[in-house]
Amino acid sequence: MVNFVGAGPGAKDLLTIRAYKLISKAGVIIYAGSLVNPELLGYADDTCKIYNSAAMTLEEVIDIMADACSKGIEVVRLHTGDPCIYGAIKEQMDRLDELGIPYACCPGVSSFCGAAASLGIEYTLPGISQSVIITRMEGRTSVPSRESIESFAAHNATMVLFLSTGMLGRLSQKLISGGYHKDTPAAIVYKATWDDEKKYICTIDTLEATAQKYNITRTALIIVGNVLTPVIYSRSELYNPRFGTGYRKASTPEIKNPEKI
Ligand code: SAH
Repeated sequence: MVNFVGAGPGAKDLLTIRAYKLISKAGVIIYAGSLVNPELLGYADDTCKIYNSAAMTLEEVIDIMADACSKGIEVVRLHTGDPCIYGAIKEQMDRLDELGIPYACCPGVSSFCGAAASLGIEYTLPGISQSVIITRMEGRTSVPSRESIESFAAHNATMVLFLSTGMLGRLSQKLISGGYHKDTPAAIVYKATWDDEKKYICTIDTLEATAQKYNITRTALIIVGNVLTPVIYSRSELYNPRFGTGYRKASTPEIKNPEKI
């Protein structure tokens, strides 16, 4: 069968145990060479056949999967981060369905989680934002007009932009015309969790200038929102002694809320 496996954001040890086991017992691995850390292939067996899908078409990928499966060989399709985000897995699954080839998915750590860890931030701070909008600028792949950056910007929520590093001037314009203040904090995280990771805090207005200054043109995430540099946020109610939960009784002292940090 075919296993779609999340390779994590880059660091060699940011892999699930299940992903590690699937990689080590695979007879064929097809990995997304433009973004998957090749060091992960070191976990594969010496006899494993390895293909880099960066230079392949969907049809070629499916042919290799079908050929291996007809011989009873386990296939791992290794996608960066988590395969469910911009992984182009559905088109592969549909073709495997047509061919009657079974498959399963093994989740991975998405790069947007890796980037938050690198920045030391929480995307969902009470009183600042309780939502994370994951989106992208339109490129060769179109984005439905009802999902415009401007319409999402109106929420002033935390936003994470994939696949948009080459379009930062236009991105800033859209974010500002949609409703974010131009001085809203923003971050560029290049190759989150890799050894050569780079991260820069700027503002929405200075995204393009920052990327140009540090020569960041690809493999980066753009993070936008006041969670990056909060001045005041509310403490969580879950851990507040004033409130009880199914696991803990409430105690009496008043806690000032919101809390200044
Ligand atoms: N499925 C992947 C995303 C694939 S789309 C995931 O869950 O992370 C490819 C885009 O993801 C890149 O253009 C870049 O915007 C982002 N990306 C992937 N890995 C990254 C990393 N380690 N650091 C920063 N951005 C990354």
